[in-house]
Amino acid sequence: MRYHALVPAAGSGSRMGGQDGAALPKQYLPLAGRPMIWHALATLCATPAIASVFVVLAPEDIHWPAPMMESLGPKLRVLRCGGETRAASVTGGLRAMASEPGASGDDWVLVHDAARPCLTVALVEKLIAEVGNDDAGGLLAVPVADTLKRGDERGYVLQTVPREGLWQAQTPQMFRHRLLLDALDFAPSVTDDASAIETLGLSPRLVAADASNLKVTWPRDLQLAERILQNRGPE
Ligand code: C5P
Repeated sequence: MRYHALVPAAGSGSRMGGQDGAALPKQYLPLAGRPMIWHALATLCATPAIASVFVVLAPEDIHWPAPMMESLGPKLRVLRCGGETRAASVTGGLRAMASEPGASGDDWVLVHDAARPCLTVALVEKLIAEVGNDDAGGLLAVPVADTLKRGDERGYVLQTVPREGLWQAQTPQMFRHRLLLDALDFAPSVTDDASAIETLGLSPRLVAADASNLKVTWPRDLQLAERILQNRGPE
C-alpha cells in the first residue's frame, strides 16, 4: 500500500485578516520561526510511511518560500492548481497528482490542512494504523468534551445539544485516491473530505486524536500553536 499527503494551501485566511491580497495569507504567517505551513509539511515529509507530499497553492501565489521548502527533501511536490473553495483545491490536487509519476487510484491520500501546524508523526502513524484496510477511510477527531449550546443570532441560548457521540473532525483525513475524487465530484460543496465520502453512504473511521492538533483560525490560535510547538522536543 502506498500513502501520499495532499495539503490544500490556497486559502486567503480571511478570518485572520488576510483577504484581497492585503495581508500575508494565513498559511505563511510566522510561527515558531518559520511560515506556518512549513511545520505540517515537515511532519508529513518526516513520516516514513508517506511516499510523497503534494502541496496545492493558488496559481497566483507569490509567497511560497521555495528555497526554504527545498530543505524538506524530494518527497515535497508543488501543484499550482488551487481553486475557489477548499474542496475545489483538493479536487484540483487529486487530479494533478494522478498525472504525476508514482500516484495511482488505489493509493491512500492523507489530506491535511496547512492551518494545522501542530500535527505529529505519531498521530499520522496512528491514523494509518487504525484505518488499516478499511475502504471507507478515516480521520483524526476529538470527542466533544464541552456542553454544546445552539444560539440565536442575538447570542442567546436556543437549546442544549446532547454531546453524546459527537466528535470534532480534524485532519489528516485519509481515503483512497479514486474514491475521494469521485466523492468530491459528487458533493463539491462540503467543508471536509469525510463529508464527501459520507454522501456516498460510507462511514469513515473516527481515530481519536488530541486537541493539540488545533486549526489556526483566529489570531489568538497562533500564540497557542506557538506554545505547543515550543514545548515539544524534536520528534
Ligand atoms: O480557511 P480554512 O482554515 O477553513 O482552510 C482550510 C485549509 O484549506 C487551509 O489549509 C487553506 O489554505 C485551504 N484552502 C484552499 N483553497 C481554498 C480555501 C482554503 O486550499 N480556496
